[in-house]
Amino acid sequence: MEIGESRIGNLLVLRPQGRLDNVTSAEFQPILLHAVTAGAADIVIDLSAVEYISSAGLRVLMTASKMKARGRRLAVAGLHGIVREVFSISRFDHVIPVFGSVEEAAAEWERDSQTAEAPESEPAPGAPIAVRFWGTRGSLSAPLNDAAVRAKIRQALVAACERGLADPADIDLFIERELPFSVRGTFGGNTSCVEIGGGTGGDYLLCDLGTGVREFGNRVIAEHGAARPHCFNVFLSHVHWDHIMGFPFFAPAYIPGNRIRIHGCHKSLREALLRQQSAPCFPVSFGSLPATIEFIELEPGIEYRIGGFSVNAIRQFHEGESYGYRFSRGGKSIVYSTDCEHKTTVLDAAYPFVEFFRDADLLIFDSMYSLAETVSVKEDWGHSSNIVAVELAQLAHVKQLALFHHEPAYDDASIERVLRETIRYEEISREDHRVEVISAYDGLELTV
Ligand SMILES: [Zn+2]
Ligand SMILES: [Zn+2]
Repeated sequence: MEIGESRIGNLLVLRPQGRLDNVTSAEFQPILLHAVTAGAADIVIDLSAVEYISSAGLRVLMTASKMKARGRRLAVAGLHGIVREVFSISRFDHVIPVFGSVEEAAAEWERDSQTAEAPESEPAPGAPIAVRFWGTRGSLSAPLNDAAVRAKIRQALVAACERGLADPADIDLFIERELPFSVRGTFGGNTSCVEIGGGTGGDYLLCDLGTGVREFGNRVIAEHGAARPHCFNVFLSHVHWDHIMGFPFFAPAYIPGNRIRIHGCHKSLREALLRQQSAPCFPVSFGSLPATIEFIELEPGIEYRIGGFSVNAIRQFHEGESYGYRFSRGGKSIVYSTDCEHKTTVLDAAYPFVEFFRDADLLIFDSMYSLAETVSVKEDWGHSSNIVAVELAQLAHVKQLALFHHEPAYDDASIERVLRETIRYEEISREDHRVEVISAYDGLELTV
């Protein structure tokens, strides 16, 4: 088999020709492996002159991808016809970066190096901050089952039939304006994961690593491709299972060049992530993940500057302790406070949480139980209620309150009922300040 070799700057281009099958792969493998283990160049395999690739050929690419040094990049380019199809069917396009041409790869990597070096620019005061909820369920993931979906369809059809709708545009309007959210949508079943800041400059900020982080990671890869490295600043409230269980399925952790910085106030962060991702519970050990993963211990009461935000932490009342975080940028503040039990006897203006929540534009708050539960059977279970959420938000003059960490036993109609009742309670108990109450759901996007 003929294999061309050329260079564009610090980029090595290998150009195999013909078929990459059982026979020719044996010739290609030593050349490719030599290229990825010797020298420091990034490598693009130009497949524009390859007319067929078999599983043996794909295996060579995977071996090279695994053997390359951390921080070095490997991609394929110029796929066409059957080769492109095989890449797609085998899902290799999910694990090896694919570019239209060698020149495109070179240009994209050059851009990445420049953005990585660009100094962090300060956002203008009042600049909007995007918040996206990837997981909002408490304690355990709670997917919809067949019966729940069927019940929603039935409710929607009955309501539509009553209206005699036939025009698709009218149906869209009807869904949007007249069906309750619990019928047209779902609060979702993923556990805690919230993205703050919308990935400005290729860096992301996340609160917790519940099962919602799987979809977040997939979205980042779908949007930017696997080749572009990112920095993920993660803040862990605590290491209870529901707040870390998504990490083994966080695809960017499996891509070298990505940097994951896990912040938290517990000393046991690394140990917890290591333990959940080790034999016999999980087949891929935490230590073998190709991304660079760092742990950064924070102290409550100290203001940090991380990922373009000022960040403060507060210790919360929860078994094994949990921590709430306040993120501020350009005069706006978002508080992430989940898994905390506020006793009703301490709720006055001197309560430290009132100061911590003060004037927040958005307060994300654990309101898993009813007030009755938190003072009876579920007292000391470490969670709060919608009533306490409203009272604290009013005392602190919070602008918007997002109910969060939903009880997994609740269906969509129950969560919607809690939201209605909470909005009503806010009206009843309001003195001088109105708090807007919403209920977080998986996929909710806000701008603060
Ligand atoms: Zn939790
Ligand atoms: Zn917890």
